This record gives sequence, structure tokens and C-alpha cells, in this order.
Amino acid sequence: MERVFNFSAGPSMLPLEVLEQAQKEFVCYGSSGMSVMEMSHRSKVFEGILEKAQADLRDLMHIPDNYKILFLQGGGSTQFAMIPLNLMNKNNKADYVVTGQWAKKAAEEAARYGKVNIVASSADTTFDRIPELDESKFDKHADYFYITLNNTIYGTRWTKLPNVGDVPLVGDMSSSILSEEIDITKFGLLFAGAQKNLGPAGVTVVIIREDLLGNAMDFTPTMLKYDIHAKNNSLYNTPPTYGIYFMGRVFEWVKAQGGVAALQKRNEEKAALLYDFLDSSAFFRGTVQKKDRSLMNVPFVLPTEELNAKFIKEAGEKGFVNLKGHRTVGGMRASIYNAMPREGVEALVAFMKQFEAENK
Ligand SMILES: *Cc1c(COP(=O)(O)O)cnc(C)c1O
Repeated sequence: MERVFNFSAGPSMLPLEVLEQAQKEFVCYGSSGMSVMEMSHRSKVFEGILEKAQADLRDLMHIPDNYKILFLQGGGSTQFAMIPLNLMNKNNKADYVVTGQWAKKAAEEAARYGKVNIVASSADTTFDRIPELDESKFDKHADYFYITLNNTIYGTRWTKLPNVGDVPLVGDMSSSILSEEIDITKFGLLFAGAQKNLGPAGVTVVIIREDLLGNAMDFTPTMLKYDIHAKNNSLYNTPPTYGIYFMGRVFEWVKAQGGVAALQKRNEEKAALLYDFLDSSAFFRGTVQKKDRSLMNVPFVLPTEELNAKFIKEAGEKGFVNLKGHRTVGGMRASIYNAMPREGVEALVAFMKQFEAENK
């Protein structure tokens, strides 16, 4: 069977070259005589895999030495609890900007452990934008300030970081890590689940500034303490070994593409193909404000529910799959992460043009 163009929001497409390389190495990794899945996480070979992955990510994102890179489990959603448990430790309060479902979930989870100040929200317009920020609403004594850099469900992204002064900025970059350059030194903590841009579900990357380690709330479970994982270099217990290996191969792939800046350029071009078409069409329509459009997730709608359903069905038959929008938004969403080739987006736009001509 032919591979399809998979526009899934997550888990999503992975680079074909990496899948093929992993297939070759599946049974025997290097000269180890075994699969990565069969290896002790305390073995020299696995330690090499883990350390190479950390070093490559450090390189790709220009992460300074005073930040630790952790490979954890529990997905992005476990970070919603780990962040307050570990960081809400001075004044027991934090600022949140609610730009979608993931930010809302993060804020709700944090509210179980301390005081959450919702600085701004775009819920009133179904999260079609990044809301304007009124800096007078920022709490100077907040333990951190939380944002979701790319809003996977609604298709918006922060193009300019908030000015938070000395308050540590915490960012969820699950659906945009390695897709565009970011100044990590502006953050106290940045995290991403792997299954959108990095690899298979199961690993979560946390990049944390060292001064934020070590002050978790007393009742924090050991496995949810950043400092435990930092002290043990993500080997406190058995980490998701195969996921770490695979992610490491993706990091090498990103390097081979020319790094994050080169991918950003490619992603901007890919996204422009779709947005330019949406803007020129009197039939298809993008659903978010232009200034805040995501490079990774592109939601759009047709004039009626019937047409949306017809489009999704016919697209699927042509090998463009997983285009159905999130259940809270409806319509369509094309997720075009790093691994989606330009040809996939070009072919989708050609199909949209054809659909418009036949159905308008
Ligand atoms: C997918 C996603 C999450 C949730 O990740 P899980 O690994 O499923 O817990 C959180 N935040 C963002 C922005 C996401 O896209």
C-alpha cells in the first residue's frame, strides 16, 4: 500500500527517511546485537543514544548550559500538573493566558495547587486569535507566566513573546517545537510532547533553567519532581527508551535539513501555499485572524456542513487523510508539521481548487 499524505494533528507524520532508518535498525542496533527496545537503559550503548539526542537538541535550539534537557513520560498533559507542583513555590500563584483547550486545561490543573490569574483569554471568539495583553494585569509576584506557543486545535501561534520581566516564562511548544526559531533564554521552562514534531508518542521533552529546580511542593510525587529527573539525567527510572532513540534520529534529520532556521523557512512557504489559497478563494475560508496564523495547523471551513463532510470524504479517497477539524471547531484542519513535504501541501491545494471548481 502507498503511504498517504497524513494531515493528522497528532500523532502525526514522521520523516520517511527516519522511519526507514529505524526499520533497518529495528532488529539490531549498530553492533549491539539487539534492538534498542531490548537494551538496558543503563547500558553504555543506550547512554550514548540518550546523550547524543540531548546534545543534538541543545545544538538545534541553541540551549545554553544553564538549562537541563529532560526526557520524561506522561505526555504534555502531565506537565500541566508538574509545572505548578514544581514552580508555584514562592507565592503560590501564576499568570496564565488562555488561548485554547490546552491552555485552559493547564490553567485548570494549576488551580488545584495554587492561585491562577487569567491574564487574558480569547475564549469569547472561539480562540480565533492570541488575545491582546494588558500588562497592568500581569502579577509581578507570580511564580511564573504560562503560554501555549502554538494552539494545535485552533491554529494560532504567538509571534511575539509577552514582556514578563523577571517572572519565569513557561511555554507549551508541543505542536511547534523545532518548526521555528525561538529564543530559549526568554523562558524558564519550555516543554513539548513528542508526537507532533519529534517522534512517537511517549516521550515528553522538558527544557528547564537550573535555578528553577529543587523547590517542589512537599507532597509532590517523586516521579513528578524535575530535580529528581535532572539529577539522574532522565534515568531515575526506565525512560521511554525507543521513543528517545527515535527522537534522536529525528534530531539528526532536522540537522540534515539545515537546522531549525531552514525548516522554519520551508514551513513558512508551506503554510503560505495554503493561506494564500484560502485568502483567494470565495469558497474556502480560514477561521483565525491573519496576524496569529499557525505555521503548523491550518483550520478552514466550507460554506455548509454538507460540503465540509463531502470534502473530507473525497479528500480521503484521494489519499489526503485526517483532515477533519477538532470536534470543538468542526470543519477541516490540515496539520503540516516539519515532516509534511511541500509536495503534500501543493497536492492538497490542487485538490481544494478542483473541489471548488466542481462544487461552487
Ligand atoms: C497535543 C498537545 C498537548 C497534549 O499532549 P498529550 O501528550 O496528549 O498529553 C498539550 N499541548 C499542546 C499544545 C498539544 O498540541
